[in-house]
Amino acid sequence: MRLDGPVLIIGAGIGGLTLASALAQRGIECRLFERAPELAPAGAGILVQTGALLALRTLKLDAAVSAKGQDVLMGLLKTERGQTLQRTSMSFLRDELGASTVAIHRARLQEVLRDAGNGAPIALGAELVGYEADASGVTALFADGRRERGALLVGADGLHSAVRRALLGESPLRYAGYTSWRGIAAGSGGVPAHEVTEMWGPGARFGFADIGPNETYWFAVLNAPESERESNPLEVVTRHFAAWAEPVPELLAHTAPERVFRTDIHDRLPVASWSRGRVTLLGDAAHPTTPNLGQGGSMAIEDAVVLAHALERAPALADALAEYERRRVAGTNRIVEASFRFGKLAQLENRLAIFLRNALFRVLPEGMVQKELRRAAQFSLEDGLARA
Ligand SMILES: Cc1cc2nc3c(=O)[nH]c(=O)nc-3n(C[C@H](O)[C@H](O)[C@H](O)COP(=O)(O)OP(=O)(O)OC[C@H]3O[C@@H](n4cnc5c(N)ncnc54)[C@H](O)[C@@H]3O)c2cc1C
Repeated sequence: MRLDGPVLIIGAGIGGLTLASALAQRGIECRLFERAPELAPAGAGILVQTGALLALRTLKLDAAVSAKGQDVLMGLLKTERGQTLQRTSMSFLRDELGASTVAIHRARLQEVLRDAGNGAPIALGAELVGYEADASGVTALFADGRRERGALLVGADGLHSAVRRALLGESPLRYAGYTSWRGIAAGSGGVPAHEVTEMWGPGARFGFADIGPNETYWFAVLNAPESERESNPLEVVTRHFAAWAEPVPELLAHTAPERVFRTDIHDRLPVASWSRGRVTLLGDAAHPTTPNLGQGGSMAIEDAVVLAHALERAPALADALAEYERRRVAGTNRIVEASFRFGKLAQLENRLAIFLRNALFRVLPEGMVQKELRRAAQFSLEDGLARA
């Protein structure tokens, strides 16, 4: 399809950068607009799920992401005392699909995505505040009065998306009942390479994964009222998790306080459609999810690749957006709800309920967990669309 103007992408996060790369590779003109004054290397770690890595493979970016992170070949679930509840080999994903799950520093992932979008201009300090759409195009309106005209506007502007608000109206955030801290510890803290571990205690979780030479990503989750803040997040996490088995205290002891981020966990109730006319959404703007299944950023990557593919292949814009939604809405909505439910199970506080849950996880066959991982890892661009 030939678009009658550039694609305007709002937000240069994981989804926006992936879309810019995917469009650039297809020769579709696009422009990125990012509210932040610079693309600073921020954030902690992230798991790029196998499905997202397969999506990145269609852009020939999977090898670069794998090279800058660590393949995850084993998943472990333990109690806060360090007793193993479940052990799942994940190397079958690499053997069957030729792609693993990768644990990587977020800044390094963004670096790969940004470098791949070569040529796509990024306007920094550009905060979208609204848009005007008509039959011949769409105009993005920015806080500094700037206006940009394009053929399609894509809101890749995250959880608090301004594009979504203008497109779908106000919809409340759903607070999950727990907050999170993320950090990077220097050294391995004794964490074996190629493993991701989550430890579960009453109303609390702690997870960690090796993300490459001398760095271990960790996250901590705690039931808490919304919007609490502290001046020294590391001190607060260290206090809450002081009695947990190693390597928790070790990792926290080797973390620099300025490398700890606190985020309350929210999502929104899923919607059946997120496109109207010349405007659509992707990633957290479309289907914000709790991080319990580690899928939010990975879904943003998959959305971006599917959207670019549909824009290339469909005969008209309306067909492309219909195809994009047909392929992405139901699956992402399922993950949002499954992740919310999984979070409730993981954050239980009642001792009896915890005892029963843990007993169940101890006897859950590895094959059942692998079946779920295999299902979540499917990604393909095969479709019925003829190239226009
Ligand atoms: C504790 C935690 C752990 C997580 N772990 C994982 C994991 O292991 N694996 C995984 O796949 N996902 C994980 N996620 C989810 C993941 O971080 C998000 O789903 C992902 O970042 C969403 O990408 P995105 O591109 O949609 O939005 P974002 O990455 O949020 O990017 C949005 C961009 O838009 C910009 N922006 C916002 N508003 C405007 C505006 N008005 N105008 C212009 N620009 C704007 C922002 O500055 C930002 O750069 C985790 C999340 C949390 C909280």
